[in-house]
Amino acid sequence: MVTNTSQISSVMSTYSRFPVALVKGKGSYVWDDQGNQFLDFTSGIATCNLGHVPNVVKEKLEEQLQNIWHCSNLYHIPNQEKLAALLTANSCGDQVFFCNSGAEANEAAIKLARRYTSKVKGEGSYEVITFKQSFHGRTLATLSATGQEKIQQGFAPLVPGFSYLPFNDFDALNELAIRKPAAVLLELVQGEGGVIPADPDWVSKMAQICQENDILLMVDEVQTGIGRTGTLFAYEHYGIEPDVISVAKGLGSGFPIGAIIAKEKAAKGFDPGSHGSTFGGNPLASAAGVATISHIVESNLLSHVKEITEYLDLQLQELKEKFPLIKEVRGKGLLKGLVVEGDAPEIVKKAIGNKLLILTAGPNVLRILPPLTATKEEINEFKEKLEKTFQSK
Ligand SMILES: *Cc1c(COP(=O)(O)O)cnc(C)c1O
Repeated sequence: MVTNTSQISSVMSTYSRFPVALVKGKGSYVWDDQGNQFLDFTSGIATCNLGHVPNVVKEKLEEQLQNIWHCSNLYHIPNQEKLAALLTANSCGDQVFFCNSGAEANEAAIKLARRYTSKVKGEGSYEVITFKQSFHGRTLATLSATGQEKIQQGFAPLVPGFSYLPFNDFDALNELAIRKPAAVLLELVQGEGGVIPADPDWVSKMAQICQENDILLMVDEVQTGIGRTGTLFAYEHYGIEPDVISVAKGLGSGFPIGAIIAKEKAAKGFDPGSHGSTFGGNPLASAAGVATISHIVESNLLSHVKEITEYLDLQLQELKEKFPLIKEVRGKGLLKGLVVEGDAPEIVKKAIGNKLLILTAGPNVLRILPPLTATKEEINEFKEKLEKTFQSK
């Protein structure tokens, strides 16, 4: 196995990887091929929200493995129906389209917005407004929707029809009312862009403008969804009802699946044949989704998330007081950003030496994503390991 960056790997070099090969995970911990144990406060980037290899999902997947893995969307898929019913019962949406990833979910949202407006308002009304520092994915349309030049570098010509307005900026809302685009697409907490929560007043004013002008309000909850911020979806904190919600990361607890959940009005944009996916919501992926969502809902996991978030907030405040290199603690629920003075990637590297996995969100933000199942003891361990990391600077 190639874990040394100086060796040539047969895998294309699209990631700068840490020299660690993970071979096992359980709960908040992972192990490498040398037997080292790490506390994983990345959750596979907000994906393993129930911790690694959660029994509730594992059992359902094992059961499904005995029956059928894949058919195609030419036939009814009972697990997919179940998962759609769970998602709509627990959100403001009415109908669901399934795909395999976050980028594909946003791709579906963008296509739905275009189809919907071309039906309702006619050709020529296709613009989707997104925001600076946003991240919506790596396909051509979603990187075009992304408000970061570094993601778009070298991929010109971009897909037309996107404009980026400044995030949390009230003047941008005037612009929105003037331009009357087909849709807005936004993250309620910008994840990759630096863990920046949207201002509630700004969001509610935006929702009002969207409603008055028949602009679809689409929220990218690929990172914030599935309990990450303390509610099943982050939009619940904002008192809004989006027309489209995109989800992926946490939906299958690590099994690849994505979806958009749309209100009936927007969902009518698609007809049979207008969009599709071979794997989207297949029996195995949907089984993972059903097990994940029903566990979160039935076990009242979100009240644990609230409790553990309060505890984590206290510990992060203590760290901030102790270490002046922490400039700000921000985020929502278990999606936390520590703005640091200095090189965040360097700190992440050092943390690995202390058997702690964390992430960055840009050059000067540490991103902390514990599993929703994390305990106070694990948060204490996280704090000790991060202190040790800061002290070794
Ligand atoms: C990760 C992410 C995506 C892309 O998801 P993929 O599954 O990697 O395609 C899109 N939007 C947001 C907010 C994300 O965090």
